[in-house]
Amino acid sequence: MRLKASLLAYLYICIYAISSCYNAWSRYGERPAMNEDLIRQLKCCTTLPTPPSTAVRIIELANSPNASLMQIADAVAFDPALAAKMLKVANSPLYNARRSAGNVRQAISLMGTHAAITIALSFSLVGGLKSAQHNAKTNVFWKRSILSALACRVLAQHFRLPADDLLLAGLLQDIGIIALQTALSERYDELAANAVDHDTLLQIERELLGSGHDEVGYWLLKRWHLPDQLAVSCLTSHIQPASEPVPDANSCVAVSGYLADVFLKPDDPVATLKATNAGARWLGLDAQALTDIIEAMRHGLKEIEDLFDIPLIDAAHAEALVAEAKELIFVANLRQMREIEERSQRDALTGAYNRTYFDDALIREFELATRHGWPLSVAVIDVDHFKQINDTYGHAVGDATLQSLTRVIQSQIRNGDVFARYGGEEFTLLFPGTPGEAAAKVLSRIRETIAAFHHTVDAETAFKVTISIGLACHLNTSTSFQRAQNLINAADQALYIAKSSGRNKLEEATIHF
Ligand code: GH3
Ligand code: MG
Ligand code: MG
Repeated sequence: MRLKASLLAYLYICIYAISSCYNAWSRYGERPAMNEDLIRQLKCCTTLPTPPSTAVRIIELANSPNASLMQIADAVAFDPALAAKMLKVANSPLYNARRSAGNVRQAISLMGTHAAITIALSFSLVGGLKSAQHNAKTNVFWKRSILSALACRVLAQHFRLPADDLLLAGLLQDIGIIALQTALSERYDELAANAVDHDTLLQIERELLGSGHDEVGYWLLKRWHLPDQLAVSCLTSHIQPASEPVPDANSCVAVSGYLADVFLKPDDPVATLKATNAGARWLGLDAQALTDIIEAMRHGLKEIEDLFDIPLIDAAHAEALVAEAKELIFVANLRQMREIEERSQRDALTGAYNRTYFDDALIREFELATRHGWPLSVAVIDVDHFKQINDTYGHAVGDATLQSLTRVIQSQIRNGDVFARYGGEEFTLLFPGTPGEAAAKVLSRIRETIAAFHHTVDAETAFKVTISIGLACHLNTSTSFQRAQNLINAADQALYIAKSSGRNKLEEATIHF
């Protein structure tokens, strides 16, 4: 009878664990399994981060349903620095206990075994990993992780969710980055250097490595045998928000990174704007609630700095940046916010979209096109002999030429098309839902209009320029591509052919990928 009951209980736990993973996965969307090549590279890497021995012991206890107070106390006592921190937390206002803890056992009994395991794991993992790989890059990483953890704790208090579990989930949500940095070293640094923010980093990783740090983090934490819900939080921290806000633990972790960026990027109003959007979309936070949370984070800074031995922001600086963030959240009306967002998407010289915006749009439209079987055309446009214009008339005339070319092109395209300055005198054009022949017609017209356009220097001087164009189409009758990057590469190769066969030409890619 007892055996039957415990079997039933075991079955129940299994079903619960599987269903909570499944729920997280299904909200997370249908992502492919992690890229095989990347797994191979990670497995071959001998310096991949590993948990310190105290953390390994605590992980065992976390996975054991019957871990006793004594066992936890023994594991913690093994590491005197950890023991001291556990005492400090137990005696902090967080646990506002009536009696204070004089030793580790009392501290754990005050916290409760689950919270004690979670807190001990937070300190032992961060302490060990932080000192194992210590350099400027990992320092920035840990600052963001610890600020995210602080945001998670504050959000948990706001929504009455388990604060210690959320703090640990916040700490580990981006651990995949450390694994990627270690395994791919310079290749990863180069790739990361192109990312202006965390969302872009994830997109670039998915695009170029086949998997993002969310999946790598999940893989790593499973390898360390951490409880499932923690590994899953790496994935859920990067989910898309549901159509209505759902203030649960996953949403808190997802928003925490944006809140960390408010403190890490004090001169960037876009960071505050993104946190405002994220707070509203995932958690339904209004301006008042959001500013309260940012203020509570500021109050918690000193304590979290002490606990994790990492200087984050000095107090005066924090006060100023929180005041600025508050002003931005409250005073800036929606129109101003939109303007800031719009500016962050535009190229300063021409007003065309910038490369970051284009890269995002390309990935978004490529996924939509692939999912629905819609055609997607992409063109890369390069000005012919542009250097000669600079050399003949000067850089300012060169700049003005790029501005006129932008105006001409913008006047020939439709609202949903995305025109961007890709860099220098190179532009890109995205035609969602448009097959190759239709895009070719528009592009031929653009090429001819530009070739006929007179650029005036002064009353006596005018000149003409031409452009070369490479076009590639996804889901045309004859071509389809595995990845967005392949599509743009094909357009680039077609551009190369247009250049080498005489310039002032439109060339369409015929290559299959
Ligand atoms: P090709 O037909 O092979 O494309 O020749 P090109 O001269 O256009 O190409 P190249 O890549 O040799 O030169 C591009 C020039 O564009 C060099 C660079 O100084 C100039 N350029 C890049 N960005 C700007 C800019 O913002 N303003 C101006 N005025 N010039 C720029
Ligand atoms: Mg050129
Ligand atoms: Mg060029």
